[in-house]
Amino acid sequence: MPESAPLARLEAALPGRVAADPETLAAYTADRSGHRSPGLPLAVALPETVEEVRAICRIATETRTPIVTRGAGTGLAGGAVAGPGELVVDLTRMRRILEISAENRLAVVEPGILNGELNAALAPHGLWWAPDPASKDISTVGGNIAMNAGGLLCAKYGVTREAVLALKVVLADGRLIEVGHRTVKGVTGYDLCALMIGSEGTLGIIVECTLKLQPAVAGEPVTLGAFFDRLEDAAAAAAAVTARGHVPAIMELMDRRTLECIDRRTGGDLASGCDAYLLVQCDGAGAFDAADGIRALLEAAGARVTSTTDPAESERLWALRRGAFPAIEALGTLLIEDIAVPRDRMAEAYARIRDIEARYDVPIPTTCHAGDGNLHPTFAFRGEEVPQRIWDAAAEVFSMALELGGTLSGEHGIGLLKRRWLEDELGREQFDLQRRIKGVFDPLNLLNPGKVFDPAG
Ligand SMILES: Cc1cc2nc3c(=O)[nH]c(=O)nc-3n(C[C@H](O)[C@H](O)[C@H](O)COP(=O)(O)OP(=O)(O)OC[C@H]3O[C@@H](n4cnc5c(N)ncnc54)[C@H](O)[C@@H]3O)c2cc1C
Repeated sequence: MPESAPLARLEAALPGRVAADPETLAAYTADRSGHRSPGLPLAVALPETVEEVRAICRIATETRTPIVTRGAGTGLAGGAVAGPGELVVDLTRMRRILEISAENRLAVVEPGILNGELNAALAPHGLWWAPDPASKDISTVGGNIAMNAGGLLCAKYGVTREAVLALKVVLADGRLIEVGHRTVKGVTGYDLCALMIGSEGTLGIIVECTLKLQPAVAGEPVTLGAFFDRLEDAAAAAAAVTARGHVPAIMELMDRRTLECIDRRTGGDLASGCDAYLLVQCDGAGAFDAADGIRALLEAAGARVTSTTDPAESERLWALRRGAFPAIEALGTLLIEDIAVPRDRMAEAYARIRDIEARYDVPIPTTCHAGDGNLHPTFAFRGEEVPQRIWDAAAEVFSMALELGGTLSGEHGIGLLKRRWLEDELGREQFDLQRRIKGVFDPLNLLNPGKVFDPAG
């Protein structure tokens, strides 16, 4: 079938909402992963209704046109990157809130609404949707679900999977299915809703999301900032916090490399006086008692701790964490990696990263969501493409994570960038099973082909 065939049919189905000019198409050849496809996609379709998404999928199936679903394009794994012959389905025009039910603590929304936009609309109802990627003001709810996004609050409030009740999903051939349950409980059949969450656009297009909401957290949070002389002590102390039963809302660890980047940017001298910084925040009922207990524990581990409820002082303690990535960005183009290890192996993971850093002679500033053992070793380089030496060092970081009983990705996903290591974690049997599951949902391999599963693999 010639390429013009899908284009003409798409234009007839979505009059005025199919773009094929080179300037528009160029914007869809990259996301925030640093990966850019070698050529322009076929077209970009901008549906506004579920029926339009279904029509697009029917046309795509009949013309064998591959589809790349796209939210806001903030993904860090290359999942939304589109190339020659591919049709982008951009969902950012499907952004309505269809229902907010305070009684049932749920909201029903279209996938293209931004996370931050949704939470602003929920606030007057005394409710919020907990997934909080640092990109929440620029990423979509559909993208958060497709990536099973995490963030700073996960150890206490869970990752996106814990915050989704049900989904409407359009399959590659245009069929519409509803998975999950509007009820709090529901165990009928296999849990296809969980399967869709984190499926990275490879199984279906999420077109409606029923979200589980939380009541707004009352009271002032207590913030603690702790400086350590030894990174290993900081990592071990963070692990001890959760081991002792404390559940802080936020616990963020930054190593000396990260502090050096901040110093370079601010002219400060944090790194000369300490080896690591731990930011902790306790919220809700019992925040003061929890903060007291955590403070005692951190001090016993040798930290110099400041604790506050004053918003200005709290903001000062936060500023270090907020400034971390902008400061690291000054080193060059970034490959922000994302492994997770069991919490009691965090200290070992940091030690192994220092060793890799020394052997490859490359700085690897590493921040960590220490409440859940999710580390972001970050590599900087010049130019657009990740040099082989950086990939070699990153590959060692991935192997290390697996050796410590961890995982290749805590929250950023596999996409294009990590697909060649997927089998290392899953093993041959599960890898094959997962590929066959993809085939059941999408037998023609039209949805995000080449993402997650390496065609060469
Ligand atoms: C500054 C910055 C900070 C970030 N911080 C975090 C963080 O703290 N935690 C975290 O987890 N991530 C983080 N990210 C990564 C990114 O924001 C998340 O992965 C986010 O969930 C992607 O949402 P998006 O709307 O941009 O999706 P996109 O990038 O457009 O798409 C991501 C993937 O989801 C698929 N997809 C998108 N929408 C749908 C849909 N409706 N149906 C089916 N598939 C779909 C796409 O095909 C693609 O594979 C960060 C990114 C940036 C740039």
